Amino acid sequence: MKNDENRMEIDPSRCKGCGVCLRACPRNCIVLGSDINNMGYQYARFEHNNCIACGLCFYSCPEFGAIKVFKKTSKGLN
Ligand code: SF4
Ligand code: SF4
Repeated sequence: MKNDENRMEIDPSRCKGCGVCLRACPRNCIVLGSDINNMGYQYARFEHNNCIACGLCFYSCPEFGAIKVFKKTSKGLN
């Protein structure tokens, strides 16, 4: 994945694997992985880079700080 593309990041240690962000994403960018975090949850991960940085995953996630979204701009990501 190139650094200058729209993307999101999930903090595995904060994700509870609820799947809300998967259903919120209009581009099917997010999947539930098979790995388990230190709370015992199967956490979500960013899979595809056709992200449009819409922020729906960020706004839908009930776990504060679990998701960050990076939007490509003419000045780079912010
Ligand atoms: S920012 Fe939008 S397109 Fe990108 S992963 Fe989140 S919901 Fe999907
Ligand atoms: S909505 Fe948040 S807690 Fe739920 S699977 Fe997505 S990142 Fe994890």
